[in-house]
Amino acid sequence: MSGTFVGMPAFPAAAREALSDAQLRRNLAHATSTIRAKRAAVVGEVDEWEELRLAGAAIKDNVLHHLDEHLLRLERSLTERGATVHWARDAAEACEIVASIARQHDADEVVKVKSMATQEIGLNEALAAHGITAWETDLAELIVQLGDDLPSHILVPAIHRNRAEIREIFRERMAAAGRPAPENLSDVPRELAAAARLHLREKFLRAKVAVSGANFAIAETGTLVVVESEGNGRMCLTLPEVLVSVVGIEKILPAWSDLDVFLQLLPRSSTGERMNPYTSMWSGGTEGQEAHVVLLDNGRTRALADEVGRQALRCIRCSACLNVCPVYERTGGHAYGSVYPGPIGAILNPLLRGVGVDEQTDSLPYASSLCGACFEVCPVRIDIPEVLVHLRSQVVDAHRAGPPKGEAVAMKSAAWVLSGARRLSWAERGMGVAGRVLNRLGRKVMPGGRRALGRLPWPGSLWSNARDVPAPPAESFRARWRREGRR
Ligand code: SF4
Repeated sequence: MSGTFVGMPAFPAAAREALSDAQLRRNLAHATSTIRAKRAAVVGEVDEWEELRLAGAAIKDNVLHHLDEHLLRLERSLTERGATVHWARDAAEACEIVASIARQHDADEVVKVKSMATQEIGLNEALAAHGITAWETDLAELIVQLGDDLPSHILVPAIHRNRAEIREIFRERMAAAGRPAPENLSDVPRELAAAARLHLREKFLRAKVAVSGANFAIAETGTLVVVESEGNGRMCLTLPEVLVSVVGIEKILPAWSDLDVFLQLLPRSSTGERMNPYTSMWSGGTEGQEAHVVLLDNGRTRALADEVGRQALRCIRCSACLNVCPVYERTGGHAYGSVYPGPIGAILNPLLRGVGVDEQTDSLPYASSLCGACFEVCPVRIDIPEVLVHLRSQVVDAHRAGPPKGEAVAMKSAAWVLSGARRLSWAERGMGVAGRVLNRLGRKVMPGGRRALGRLPWPGSLWSNARDVPAPPAESFRARWRREGRR
């Protein structure tokens, strides 16, 4: 009962399909503009917002520079407080650890707190292969799971659905997963939430094992922190006998006092609230509970080794960069082919998986206009445009073998012409003649009065399909300088 991103096409093909869905674009435009406005209002209330961003970035950089020490300290603190710590190099190891804990407790189902790390490793599908059903309990994740759908946003995974679609999913699919939706269910949000609450309650009360992630893991105290809006997380964290938390190794904060900074940055950046309704913290397990913590690498040490790209590991998954991105707003999250969509997905996926591995991953650093809006809103100052450009150069390097592409040939030719004074002079004269002819033939007039050509024949059409081709100036700068200098 959940989709998979495996086998998704590269971004351009997936984006083209998404762009043809007018309903999707309407849903996204409405949702992202609402969250954007809320975030802007609450961030504007904080005079020292820039200082908070700098502090957040500095704390995370400290973690990344001394990750080995912080991890060992976290392991010590967790163990002292009664939790069992497991280390997972990759997704397969992490899934196997969770499945074996569930099997040890004869559990054929687990309830889940919303968690990006468990989605990243495909935990639901892996547990299903062991005969264990994973129930999502976050409202949006429940909608995605019941709809056999894929998440399209970090914070609001069902952002691509409107409430009429959600009502249909509940009416058609809830019964197969447990308590059915009420007969007369309307699409009023309060009724939809009530139906989900009743449906989930029996799962909370029945499940022996819960699985969570963590927004933060405090090395000093061995405390895991989950920040949420609905309270479903707290039900999962406190009711079942066994709690397994899958935590990315970059989630560490060194000290308890560091939480102060992040509990100001995260809610304002994500949901546009001054403070989120539920912040759950636990050190070891809650009383009478068996607690396990799976510390997950899955490509994070690869990202850490990249001097430019490692800043992506500062990410606190607030999703502010998605909500301001003009590309995300038009294509939605599925086009990115990953549980991490939008600007952060465009850098995090290639950093975690490696560049040159597959076409889909290599297409992601190009899924951006480099407008810089993502950097402006990022609460931990990740310079996403800088990392995008850096990754693009890695993608180009990874594909250097084989015959050179047309663009590379054109660039080499231009370099050869520009590096010789005589060659440049001949090129300028040729361009001047071409400019005078094209200025007569060009039908389009660009701003400033310059003429432009429309569509060129192939292979020029590859360029001109989406752009005007301006006529070259009839006179070069150097020729003008010579002429005017004589006066
Ligand atoms: S990159 Fe920054 S803005 Fe985007 S999700 Fe991560 S922390 Fe939030």
